[in-house]
Amino acid sequence: MATREFRSDFDVIVAGSGPGGATVTRELARAGKRVLLLEWGDRPDIRGSFVQLASMVRRPGRGVLFTPDGLALFRNITTGGSSMSYYATAWVPPVEEFKRYGIDVTREVEEVQSELPITALPDELIGPFARLIMASARDLGYRWEKLKKFVYREKCRPNCDKCIYGCPHGAKWTARMYAEEAVGSGATLLNGARATRVLVENGKAVGVEFRMNGEEQKALAPQIVLSAGGIGSPVILRASGIRAAGRDFFFDPLIGVFGAAKGIRGGREFPMATGCHFEEEGYILSDYNLPAPLYMAFACEVLRFDRAFSHSRTLQIMVKARDPLGGRLTNRGGVRKRLSAADKDRLHQGCERAKGILKHAGAKNIFRSWYIAAHPGGTVKIGDLVDSNLQTEIENLYVCDCSVIPVARGLPPVFTILCLAKRLARHLSA
Ligand SMILES: Cc1cc2nc3c(=O)[nH]c(=O)nc-3n(C[C@H](O)[C@H](O)[C@H](O)COP(=O)(O)OP(=O)(O)OC[C@H]3O[C@@H](n4cnc5c(N)ncnc54)[C@H](O)[C@@H]3O)c2cc1C
Repeated sequence: MATREFRSDFDVIVAGSGPGGATVTRELARAGKRVLLLEWGDRPDIRGSFVQLASMVRRPGRGVLFTPDGLALFRNITTGGSSMSYYATAWVPPVEEFKRYGIDVTREVEEVQSELPITALPDELIGPFARLIMASARDLGYRWEKLKKFVYREKCRPNCDKCIYGCPHGAKWTARMYAEEAVGSGATLLNGARATRVLVENGKAVGVEFRMNGEEQKALAPQIVLSAGGIGSPVILRASGIRAAGRDFFFDPLIGVFGAAKGIRGGREFPMATGCHFEEEGYILSDYNLPAPLYMAFACEVLRFDRAFSHSRTLQIMVKARDPLGGRLTNRGGVRKRLSAADKDRLHQGCERAKGILKHAGAKNIFRSWYIAAHPGGTVKIGDLVDSNLQTEIENLYVCDCSVIPVARGLPPVFTILCLAKRLARHLSA
């Protein structure tokens, strides 16, 4: 079947509209570049419902990927990528560490801070469970603080737990906002367009092949940026001849620890509003606050049917750990990485600490969830498969998303991705 050529008067093609892709596209469009943004997912209005989230993640191989251990790795295939479900925690990038790779993002950090609402939530937006957990942790001597969030406070509501569903109130900054701004500045967004391969001529990237409406199509441009996420970008790179992509990566495994609260009700709260980073131990603890249907699914998964209907009386703590680089992806994006004994031990230690905090808060009947993950990255590392300008060995082919982060930190990566994307856009506009 012949490949149809999509209109080809673009300066740059970006594949993927998560935090990396949406930011590069926005910056380039604002600088007057003609940008084509290919996005595999669609762009439904956010209803803020469990049903909508379930419809996004229900298809294995798309919204959820399973490792051989049965760990579920979640991502959103939709305009805005996983920022549609993220908890909006803004963790400052490791500026000094990036300097070792010849990358200085000082200016970009300042730019992001001045453009986006990065702030800890005011007390009235922090729910009773998060407050109780914070008080208990502090009482035990931990430096448990409010965490910084990408949140428009005036739009955020108390007694709301819809962040993970995409925030129907527009209170949480998401990459979809940048994708929409990019379109407002002249970028072309194609939804339902899955990039499959980069077209290369004489060692230079010249276009992208993609599938849309069941048809093979291609678009041409002198610069290509892959921003299909920690799993998506290496899959496209492999199909384009860079076979080493998708090896030795991280995904930041996590578990939930739950306990029955005494004399207090809540549960509909902003998640991850407060927490504590145990840097040496390699994990972070925070309040978790899964909405009721998700909590129920987590409880049933570990056969705690007795606790499945106790959401409004259950304190929740998330333990998220740093996992060492390892594993490999299959050519179709299958995740072949097992948690090592050390990974499990790290999570177990975090879990014991979380239990101590819950017990001190008066919780009983404590149990933990199975493993999940939500930050796949390091699959196309800086200093390995991309240089300090995020360019691959193929000239004019760049990667900009969580894939390029070279070290496992076990920390929320979006702020870092935004800075790298702004820096790349500056490089491409120059
Ligand atoms: C529940 C949850 C909570 C989280 N909380 C936080 C948090 O509080 N703070 C934080 O910093 N991070 C958080 N994260 C992680 C964060 O959302 C991701 O690390 C971030 O979105 C990654 O950005 P990205 O640009 O690398 O890719 P993604 O967000 O994965 O975006 C990739 C985009 O590419 C598209 N795509 C994929 N393949 C193709 C293809 N072949 N062709 C075209 N398009 C394609 C996808 O549909 C998607 O839109 C959370 C994640 C989840 C799931």
